[in-house]
Amino acid sequence: MKLDPNKKCILVSACLLGVPSRYDGKSKTNNLAIQLVEFFNVIPICPESDSGLPTPRDPSEIVGNKVLSSKGKDVTEFFKRGAQMALELAKKYNVQLAVMQEKSPSCGFKSVHNGLFDGGMVKGQGFTTKLLLENNVQVIPDTNLEAFIKSLREKNND
Ligand code: SF4
Repeated sequence: MKLDPNKKCILVSACLLGVPSRYDGKSKTNNLAIQLVEFFNVIPICPESDSGLPTPRDPSEIVGNKVLSSKGKDVTEFFKRGAQMALELAKKYNVQLAVMQEKSPSCGFKSVHNGLFDGGMVKGQGFTTKLLLENNVQVIPDTNLEAFIKSLREKNND
């Protein structure tokens, strides 16, 4: 990976950058996330596919301390491994900030699916977001990107 020595490194959920890594084989492209390259060395992560889960894959939700697929398969170990891989990258590149896709059982920040596979949400964090926060990496959800980019532009214009 070619890094600009004048920029800090951040982790960004790969699906926000246009990578079709979601469970349904689609991306969640967010033009604001793509603009982050103006300010940072952007390191894409997809904890679920990085951990070895296939794409597309059955959707998964957090149920208690575990993650189960919609077919009832326990995929917790994949989610733990993906989180650990993201943390290792954060340490390797001295990352202090991650921009994560809301609602995901890996990347969610304020809310995640409720474990009933009925579209309902509950307050909570995905496995990777939680581990990053526990290790002092600040996390910004995609839903706060507009305000974040605005603040970066204002800082640059000072
Ligand atoms: Fe996107 Fe995170 Fe889900 Fe990967 S695990 S598809 S990066 S939300």
